[in-house]
Amino acid sequence: MISKHRVIRLWRRWLATMVLAAALIGFGLQTTERGEDPRPPKYLADPAHQVPCLLDASEGAGCDIGFTAAHGLTEDPTWRGEGHGLLGRSPPAPAPFGLAVDARNDPVLSDAAGAALLRRARTQEPDAHRLDLRPGAEHSVVERRDARGRYRGLYLDNVELESRVRGFAGPIELGVYVDEQGRIRKLVHLDSRETPSYLRQLADAGFYARFSRLPVDRAEHRVDAVSGATLTSRALAAGLTELVAVAEDPLGDYLEASPRGFAVVARLSNAWIGHALLLLGLFVLAWQGRGALSGADWRLHGLLAIGVLGLLLNDAFTYVTLMQPLFGVTLSAFATLYLVLVLLGAIWDDNTYCRRICPFGQAQRWVARWDRGSRLNRWPLSNRRMRQLRRLLTLVLIVGILAGFEHWRGFELFPDLFGFDAGSPWFLLALFLVLRVGAWIPMLWCRLLCPTGEALDTLASLMRPGRDKNISCNK
Ligand code: SF4
Repeated sequence: MISKHRVIRLWRRWLATMVLAAALIGFGLQTTERGEDPRPPKYLADPAHQVPCLLDASEGAGCDIGFTAAHGLTEDPTWRGEGHGLLGRSPPAPAPFGLAVDARNDPVLSDAAGAALLRRARTQEPDAHRLDLRPGAEHSVVERRDARGRYRGLYLDNVELESRVRGFAGPIELGVYVDEQGRIRKLVHLDSRETPSYLRQLADAGFYARFSRLPVDRAEHRVDAVSGATLTSRALAAGLTELVAVAEDPLGDYLEASPRGFAVVARLSNAWIGHALLLLGLFVLAWQGRGALSGADWRLHGLLAIGVLGLLLNDAFTYVTLMQPLFGVTLSAFATLYLVLVLLGAIWDDNTYCRRICPFGQAQRWVARWDRGSRLNRWPLSNRRMRQLRRLLTLVLIVGILAGFEHWRGFELFPDLFGFDAGSPWFLLALFLVLRVGAWIPMLWCRLLCPTGEALDTLASLMRPGRDKNISCNK
């Protein structure tokens, strides 16, 4: 006969599985709806500080009326009435008024913004061309000219735009050099809060070069995303699409035709299928019935997880992946599979990811096993207290991210550890944490600091009434 506790557990697990399925279907449908109009609306930077001005027909007294048509907020300021002559004189002309912005009160078009744009263009100009600023009605561009003064293309960037595109840790500032034939000469990353190892991974994989020679036309183009940095790859492609859409007017003056409809999509190449099979294999092995694998088998499984997810893919599951759909970020097929496996492992198997898969956790386990001699005899925090602190930290991070502190998403050392960038302080910190701190206090990151572990342990605990164990501290 099935015990009451077992029935409750089963009910909870099935319910959680159905909620997961419904959420996936819901986000899938939402994505389809969003896909109907991929062109983003135009945003000018910092609209709250644009100063309204009174339109006046008299020269120099108010806004520059040459710009009013672009903003469409006023009537024709030269209108003087119908002029019916029965009274012998025209009625007084209505004073045209409205809100408008021009080069004097729009930060995007200010001299300072123009000078900064020119400076950014100079930093990575690929052909040592001369650069001249060309202010526009809504968006400035930089013209590229060779030594003989011949037009050689343009530079523009999204620094002054209020971008809707988000990478792993917020918006990404990018610039693009276009040649005289309207093809992309070079895409450059300017600034972002993305994890440095992801950015280096993109550069090492030649991701930016994949944009080279793409025509800025009306077509949708495709580039291969870099697996392990999929979100950043997709955000860069989407950021370029957005930039071209926003700068459509000045670009149209230089190109043969308006680039309306231009888009670049970064998709995973077919290699992702092989990676997905490896990931699936790791989970299926971990879901063998208890006793099916010996201790040595499990250690081998841990090494396999480090090899595949750490060294080969450098692709960690993090709590941020769970939050991405809330920010309108769509997940790739690989990331969705990863998410489903991790959540099913938490719902049905007491958090498989932390116990068997996560390479960061596995690396700490190996160090704790092999360097028992360095272990501290006394550590002031009990498991229970560490769990409380970890929960508090996770809550603060989630609330902070939802409140707009997007760079808090980068609270994650996994990619830095497996990024192997000896010049990065984050790599050195991750290494110190695993090799030394992990030997002094086993699994300290997992037990005290990891928000992903907290999210998954909480979900696993909810499936088992009366059990609130810190699963990820399991050595
Ligand atoms: S607690 Fe964090 S670092 Fe540790 S195993 Fe879980 S996800 Fe990995």
